[in-house]
Amino acid sequence: MTIKNAPETKFFYSRSPYKEAFDIEFPQEPLEGEMYKYRCKYCKVLTTDINGRLENHKADCVYRLLREAQPV
Ligand SMILES: [Zn+2]
Repeated sequence: MTIKNAPETKFFYSRSPYKEAFDIEFPQEPLEGEMYKYRCKYCKVLTTDINGRLENHKADCVYRLLREAQPV
């Protein structure tokens, strides 16, 4: 099944705020010179700015694009 064939409503519900509320599975890397700071390996946004929210990644972040392409 492709996302293109999925009904609009189903896609909407699969992205409910509850399911997406806390997303920290993205690859992270330590910030240079900042021992306790981490950022997304792809879009370089700080984990503290992402705050577990997929939409806080940059719009062209590889991880975000991958996650949004997943039907689950
Ligand atoms: Zn990212």
